[in-house]
Amino acid sequence: MERASTPSSSAASARLQSLSASLLALVLAVPVGAQTRPPAEGVEVGRNSAFTKLVPADQVERSSAQQYAQMLSRAAQQNALATADNAQLRRLRAIAAKIVPFAVAWNPRARDWRWEVNLIGSSQINAFCMPGGKIAFYSGILQKLQLTDDEVAMVMGHEVAHALREHARERMGKNAATNIGANVLSQVLGFGQLGQTVTNYGAQLLTLEFSREDESEADLVGMELAARAGYDPRAGVTLWQKMGAASKGAPPQWLSTHPSGTKRIAEIQANLPKVMPLFERARKEPVPSNKQ
Ligand SMILES: [Zn+2]
Repeated sequence: MERASTPSSSAASARLQSLSASLLALVLAVPVGAQTRPPAEGVEVGRNSAFTKLVPADQVERSSAQQYAQMLSRAAQQNALATADNAQLRRLRAIAAKIVPFAVAWNPRARDWRWEVNLIGSSQINAFCMPGGKIAFYSGILQKLQLTDDEVAMVMGHEVAHALREHARERMGKNAATNIGANVLSQVLGFGQLGQTVTNYGAQLLTLEFSREDESEADLVGMELAARAGYDPRAGVTLWQKMGAASKGAPPQWLSTHPSGTKRIAEIQANLPKVMPLFERARKEPVPSNKQ
């Protein structure tokens, strides 16, 4: 699915390079804007990447909603979409209902997201949250790993964190900036057409691979979300141990984009002191139904 341009001469190529350079300079000059920081407790992560700004958030979210709807209708056609009375789906939705109120502190757009949680009947060990709060779990991850509620909350928190930190949008922005074709570049200078890159790169939303930094960030933000919602963040350790054990033999789908390992577990353990107080507090006090 490469859409690389084929410059007809080295002069065109040089011009393209210089355009790319000015585009990059432009992007990096754009202020990152008001950083939404949660209260001065919990985990610490860096600012959003400047590349995030290259692609409009509403376009990413619209594209995501479309792909999510298509995926649901395919699953329904195959009789693989859990209905609202499914016990496991009810469990997932109950956990999401506790986590979602803490999302806005990480991204004000989340206030307007139409959150959805669905369960797909599939033996795959997989789960995701697409931009705009579209969550899906595959039954395989619940059954094969026998996930506790705390572990489900850690998976969900991790996936929701990818959406809140707009890692998909960042990835698309990076792709747009580095792979951009000459025709797209000419539109870029007008900025208004940038949304078109969503069409080119949006198809990757379901199979997006994030950087190691994004993964680490999602682990930390996810464990904080889960802790604030009253789920034991120590479940992050047992979750990844289960993942590691399940990867012996054929590696599960989720692990192909989420490499397990002692490093990951060590980082989660190192950050437990930052989130355990939030968990202890949430356990003592009822979780508010809406924040702020
Ligand atoms: Zn991830």
